[in-house]
Amino acid sequence: MANTCESAVVTCEDFRLHQKPVGENKIAEFVENLGESSDIITRGGGIKDLVRPQQPGFRKSLLKDIEVSINLHEISTFFLINHEDCGGYQDLEFDTKKEEINQHKDDLEEAKEILKKRFPSIEIKLCLARKKSEETWDFKIEKLDN
Ligand SMILES: [Zn+2]
Repeated sequence: MANTCESAVVTCEDFRLHQKPVGENKIAEFVENLGESSDIITRGGGIKDLVRPQQPGFRKSLLKDIEVSINLHEISTFFLINHEDCGGYQDLEFDTKKEEINQHKDDLEEAKEILKKRFPSIEIKLCLARKKSEETWDFKIEKLDN
C-alpha cells in the first residue's frame, strides 16, 4: 500500500480544536467528513507564520512541513483552517469581532497566494473555525471559498 493520502490540513495547535478528554475533536471530525485521509500540520496561529512570521525561520519551517506532505504523501489539496479567539493573533489586539474575523480572512487569502506561487499544482481551500458562542469552547469549521 502506497504511503499517500488525499489532503492535508494546516491549522492551529490550540487544544480546543483537537483531542480533549471530554467532547469533540473538531479537526478529526472535519477530516472524517471529508471522507479521505489527511496529514495534519499544526502551528500556533495556524497560517500566520506564512503571512507575517515573527521570525524569518518560522515561514520556512511551515513551508518545509507543507513540502513534506506534497513530496512524501503526494498531497494535492490543502485545507487552511484558522480559528476565532486564537492566541497566536493576540499581538494584533482587535477592537471588534468583525475586525478579528476579517484579519483571519485576509490572512487566509494571502497564505493561499503565497502557497499557489510556490506550489502551483496544489489546490487550496480556506476555512475559519468560529466559536458557537462567547461562553463556549465549541467551534464550528466554516468553509470560506467552496
Ligand atoms: Zn490558535
